[in-house]
Amino acid sequence: MLDPVILYFGSFNPIHQGHLSVARAAQQYYGGKAEVWFVLSAQNPFKQKADLWPDEKRWKLLLEAIANKPGMKACDVELNLPTPSYTIKTLNYLRQQNESREFVVLIGEDNLAGYTQWKDYKSILQMCKIMVYPRKEENRAENENSKEDQNIYDKNKAKIPSDLAAYTDRIILLEGDLLAQSSTAVREVNIGSDPKDWAQILQWRGSRAEALRQESQKIKEKNVGKNVYLRGLIEYSNYCAKNCYYCGIRRDNSDVKRYIVSEEEVLNAMAFAHKEGFGSVVLQGGEIKDKDFVLKIEKLLKQAMTMSGGQLGITLSFGEQDKDTLKRWREAGARRYLLRVETSNEALYKRLHPSDHSFKDRIKTLDYLKETDYQVGSGVMIGLPWQSPLDMANDLYFFKQREIDMVGMGPYIEHRFTPLYEQRKNIPSLEERYEYSLNMLALLRLLMPTINIASTTAMASLNPKGREEALRIAANVIMPNITPYKYRENYFLYENKLCICESEQDSKEHIEETIRNAQCEVAYFKSGDSKHYFNRLDPKNEDPIL
Ligand code: SAH
Ligand code: SF4
Repeated sequence: MLDPVILYFGSFNPIHQGHLSVARAAQQYYGGKAEVWFVLSAQNPFKQKADLWPDEKRWKLLLEAIANKPGMKACDVELNLPTPSYTIKTLNYLRQQNESREFVVLIGEDNLAGYTQWKDYKSILQMCKIMVYPRKEENRAENENSKEDQNIYDKNKAKIPSDLAAYTDRIILLEGDLLAQSSTAVREVNIGSDPKDWAQILQWRGSRAEALRQESQKIKEKNVGKNVYLRGLIEYSNYCAKNCYYCGIRRDNSDVKRYIVSEEEVLNAMAFAHKEGFGSVVLQGGEIKDKDFVLKIEKLLKQAMTMSGGQLGITLSFGEQDKDTLKRWREAGARRYLLRVETSNEALYKRLHPSDHSFKDRIKTLDYLKETDYQVGSGVMIGLPWQSPLDMANDLYFFKQREIDMVGMGPYIEHRFTPLYEQRKNIPSLEERYEYSLNMLALLRLLMPTINIASTTAMASLNPKGREEALRIAANVIMPNITPYKYRENYFLYENKLCICESEQDSKEHIEETIRNAQCEVAYFKSGDSKHYFNRLDPKNEDPIL
C-alpha cells in the first residue's frame, strides 16, 4: 500500500525553515516515507490582506524551497478552485483525483482549538486523520495576521480540546524537538535568475530594500565572513591618453595639473602599507601604454616584492594594456587587476566615450587578464545618463557570466569640466544613486557569494555613511587612500571626491571605526585573495552557500 499523503495547508507567506521542519517531522512520523504536499491557500479576492504576497510569488518561493527535497511537493489546487476554499472541498477534489491515496491533514495546534467551527469537520475526520503540530505560546500574538503561518513550535505535544474528545483515535499529535527549529525565511528575498526580475529588485526602497540588504549581509557572512581587507590606494599618475566623457582627468581637461608619483614616494607608501598591516596595495592611474611607463611599473612591482618578501598583494589598474604588458606585470608580482567595463551595454558605452574608444577592446583586455592568470576585477558606474535599471541588472549578469573575481562599482558622480556634465539633469538624484548602488551591491553579493567586493570612495562621496553601509551589506574590501598628500587634489575623477581636505577619512582610526560600525572586522596582515578566483581555478572547491 502507498504511504499516506500529508496535506499541509497554509498561505506560506513566505515559506520558511519552520514550515520545512514541520513537514520533516510529519514525514518522520511515517518513517520518513510519507509525502508532504504543501497546499498553498489562495489570496481571498474579497478579503485582501495587505501583508499577503501575491499568489504567484508565494508559489514561486514555495517551489524553490522544496526543490530537491524528497517527498515534498507543492499543490496549487486551491489557487484554481473557487474561493473561499473550504478544506472539505479541497479534500473531496484531491480524493477524486487520487483515488488510491490516503490523506492526512496537517494543521497547527491553534487551528485544532477552533476545529469544530470548520465546515463539515466531522466528515473531514471520517475521511482522514488530522495531524497536529504544537505551537510555541509566546509567538502567538506576534503574528496575528497570518495565523496559519504560525509555525513556531513547542516541544510539548499539543492538547486535544474537550470538544474533540470523541475523535482522539483520528488525531495524531506530533512531538519532538521542533522548538529548536528556526522560523527564518528559506529565502526572504526571491531574486530569481532573470535580469528583468533583478531590474525590479534594484528599484526596491524602504523595508523591501532593507530585507534585500539583510539577506545579502547574511550570505556575505556565510561565504566570506566578517573580514574586511585593506588595500592601500596609490593614485600613481593622472596622465591619461583616454578621453572618457565622464572623467575629470581625461586627456582634454587642460585644467588638471598632471603628475607622476616618484619611485621613492611609491616605495615609501608601499612600505607604510606593509608595515601597517594592509595586506595589499592598489596602483591606479590614467591609461598610458608607452614602453617607459610599462618598465617603470615593472620595476616598482619587483621592488615591492623584494621589500615585502613577496607578501604584499598588488592590484593594478591602468586601463587597457597589451597582453604582453599584462603578462610582464603579472610575472613581476602583480596578482590582481581592476578594469571596470563602466557599463555592459555597448550602445551606452559608445555614448559615454569618444569614437576611438572601444567596448570590444575593453572586453578583450578582460580576456587577457584571465589568460594571464590575474584575479580579475571589473565594475560599472551606477546612475549614468541613459542608463536604465535593466542596464544595471545586465551589468550584474555580465559579472556573473564572465566569472569576475572582484567588483568595484559605485555611483556615477558628475564633474563640471567634462562633456557628460551636460547631461546632469538626466540622471537620478544623489539619494537615488545611493539607493541603487546599495541594491546593486546587495544583489551582486547574492548572485556571487564568494567574490571580493569593494566599498568604493564614490559611495562615501554621496553619503558619509556610504562606505560603512556598503561594508555592512556586501563589501569585504576597502581602499584607504595612501597617495602622498601633495598629489591628491589632482586625481579629481569626479566632484566631491574625498581628497586632501578629508584625508582624515582614510586615517587608520577612521577606517577601523567604519569597519567596526559596519559590524565587520579589520583583517590586518591578510592579503584577502578572492575566494571566487580559487573556486574558478579548481571547481572542486566548495560551492557558495546560499
Ligand atoms: N584609467 C583607468 C583607471 C583609473 S579611472 C581606467 O579607466 O580603467 C578609475 C575609475 O574611475 C574608472 O574606471 C571609472 O569607473 C571611475 N570614474 C571616472 N570618472 C568617474 C565619475 N565621474 N564618477 C564616478 N566614477 C568615475
Ligand atoms: Fe583615463 Fe580612466 Fe579617466 Fe578614462 S576613466 S579618462 S581611462 S583615467
